[in-house]
Amino acid sequence: MTADHRAPLRHVVATFGVTAAGTLWYVLWTVTGIGPATVSYLPLPLAAAGAAAAVLDLLRRAPLTPPAVRFWRLMLVAFGLVGAGYTVLAVAGFRDTSILPPMPLPAAALAGAGFLAAMWAMVRVPLGIASPGERWRQWLDRAIAFLGCGTVLFHFGLAPVMTAATPWSTQTVVLLGLSLALAAGGITKVAYIRGGPIDRSALRLIGSTGLTGAVVALLLIHGGDAGSVADQAVVMPFAAVLGALAVRRQWQHTAAGRGRAGAWLPYLAVAAVDVPLIAVIPDELTTADRLVIAASVLVTGLVTVRQFVAFRENARLLADKRASQERLEHDATHDGLTGLPNRALFRRRLAAQLDRGDATVLLVDLDDFKTINDSLGHDVGDHLLIAVAAVLRRETGTDGLPVRLGGDEFAVLVTDPTALGETIAQRVLDAFTGPLSEHRLLVHASVGIATAPAGTPLDRLLRDADVAMYAAKQRGKANWVRYHDGMAQPVASHAQLGGELRRALDAGEFTVHYQPIIAIRTGRIVGVEALARWQHPTRGMISPAEFIPAAESTGLIVPLGRWVLRETCRQAAAWLAEFGPDALQKFGPNVSARQLHDPDFVSDVQSALADSGLPANRLVLELTESAVLRGPQVSRALFRLHALGVRLALDDFGTGESSLSLLRAFPAAIIKLDKSFVDGIELDPPGSPEADARQAVARAVVQLALALGLDTVAEGIENAAQADRLIELGYSLGQGYHLARPMPATEMTQLLSTQRDLVSPS
Ligand code: C2E
Ligand code: CA
Ligand code: CA
Repeated sequence: MTADHRAPLRHVVATFGVTAAGTLWYVLWTVTGIGPATVSYLPLPLAAAGAAAAVLDLLRRAPLTPPAVRFWRLMLVAFGLVGAGYTVLAVAGFRDTSILPPMPLPAAALAGAGFLAAMWAMVRVPLGIASPGERWRQWLDRAIAFLGCGTVLFHFGLAPVMTAATPWSTQTVVLLGLSLALAAGGITKVAYIRGGPIDRSALRLIGSTGLTGAVVALLLIHGGDAGSVADQAVVMPFAAVLGALAVRRQWQHTAAGRGRAGAWLPYLAVAAVDVPLIAVIPDELTTADRLVIAASVLVTGLVTVRQFVAFRENARLLADKRASQERLEHDATHDGLTGLPNRALFRRRLAAQLDRGDATVLLVDLDDFKTINDSLGHDVGDHLLIAVAAVLRRETGTDGLPVRLGGDEFAVLVTDPTALGETIAQRVLDAFTGPLSEHRLLVHASVGIATAPAGTPLDRLLRDADVAMYAAKQRGKANWVRYHDGMAQPVASHAQLGGELRRALDAGEFTVHYQPIIAIRTGRIVGVEALARWQHPTRGMISPAEFIPAAESTGLIVPLGRWVLRETCRQAAAWLAEFGPDALQKFGPNVSARQLHDPDFVSDVQSALADSGLPANRLVLELTESAVLRGPQVSRALFRLHALGVRLALDDFGTGESSLSLLRAFPAAIIKLDKSFVDGIELDPPGSPEADARQAVARAVVQLALALGLDTVAEGIENAAQADRLIELGYSLGQGYHLARPMPATEMTQLLSTQRDLVSPS
């Protein structure tokens, strides 16, 4: 409900004014006895009209949901009918000035229909029940509660009227009964509503209007004619005041209602029924009869208590369960150290915001955190991160969502559309000018800001912010920079990447792409090279040319390489199983020098083969010359691999210094001619001495390989002319964008099935 839809007070004031005037008149009348009693017929129709006007106004101007509209329309009908009924009575009353004309039938019928309309409105209020089981349980509960409440109200309200010495007219009894039923129904219904389109307290007030019937009954029993006058003038109009108040509550209703479902009500009702039961025990019963009744009452009482205890227990268990679910959910979406939302939650929220409109993110990276962590220890580092999180929380305030992305990387998703990223960034940087955490450390941060319109891919926005953040670092740190188009993507330093590689490996951000190795003449795929790919969460796909050197310098190439090896073997075995043993001959992962130094490397290869079931002779390890020339330990490993049947390929062949002599000392099976010898090989006649030399190397390599019984693969073939020239020179296998690009495993699978269908059309 927006601010311009204000709840009007005038209807409440009007209905209350009429009721107050009626009360005043009644007091004067009883004290002085002046004036005709017929005045008592006026307040109720007037007050009912006031309540009806209030509902009408609500229906006209308030933004209501369809169920609420339905409810209030019925209430309008109810107030209208009751008002009409009592207007008819008033007219009859003024015609026939004897103090108490019996209620004319049409009047009673109208008022009764009004009560029924109100009850129907109550019945139709949605409860928001989820399952059929729950529906049944609630119906039972509500039936018990309704009967319990109803019995009590009947006993104290209706029964005395029905059995009174001077009998009351049927109309009066029926109307009383209906109003009490409305009260019982209202109480039972409201107890089960947790929120929803119709305001709970509005419902409660409407239900209470029926309770005025109980007061009326009391007055009628004890007051005689005077009671009837009081009822007309004072009590019944009060029901309209309650109605007007209910309308006002509905105006102030905010959709997210709360409140506990009154599952306790049936128990209370069961116990309550005992009260009239005891009251109606006739005097002439024997002691034995009384004992039986007392025992029954006691049993129902105890069962009620028992049920109530069980109910409390269940409620507690449910609350526990909900709490532990919430905790699990919290743990999954928050960072354990700082308590900030984590990367997963950040991405979810950012995606949602980008669906709706613009989104601005700040990437906050601590400058030189690694130095602090390494020199002062992890404990100090952890405390610092917690302090940084506190700063971010404080400085972001209600403008956005601060998160920890991992390591010393934080981010802020700006959620307040009026807040400026720059302002938040400056506040954060200002907060960092003083010492932080109990260790009084000075840190600085670099902040990258980027904004993107709705529909921008999330990773694109994050990459922009990342680029801006690196630009901030380059500007001398402790700086913020907003991304603008054309800002160059900087090459990250090894140290920065190294820190992230470990996380990325654990987070499963790496995949393997496969580039076909092809028989150039026939176009048939004979093998694949396995190439690592890093799908970075903020920077998108990062090239291995960028992260492999970082992985090597940090040593992470060992676990990363092991993973690539195992993944390649697994995928290779899967393809052989699907497409048959002739589908592919070579599966070639790249192996770094650092891996060859790892004493476990050979056994890693063995277990990768054993676990996948890939035959050893299908595995081709691609090694560079420089990796191979690393002393006796590496040599021994290579010979052991050779002995296992694994083939070794010399990668980037021709670029090293000792390529030829290497072939004697090394059990290679395949030579991969480096791309630099393929570049320009098609130019005819050869343009420069340099090009001549390249061709000469390409020719020499293939002849040498032939002489030594090795396979050759020409790398980096980018056009048909190069392919033709290589065929002329004697190459049969090639690899390159012209033949096929590296691709994800799924695409490779498709390619293989197309090839199978071509070879053996069924
Ligand atoms: P590489 O072993 O020489 O792999 C061939 C590279 O050339 C691949 O780049 C491939 O995509 C690219 N390439 C293939 N055909 C063409 C072409 O026609 N034109 C051009 N311009 N390039 C072509 P990528 O995938 O970026 O890999 C770069 C290097 O990263 C690889 O060079 C390899 O040394 C290293 N690398 C990749 N994956 C791994 C790995 O799992 N472990 C290790 N240790 N190194 C890897
Ligand atoms: Ca390679
Ligand atoms: Ca290569």
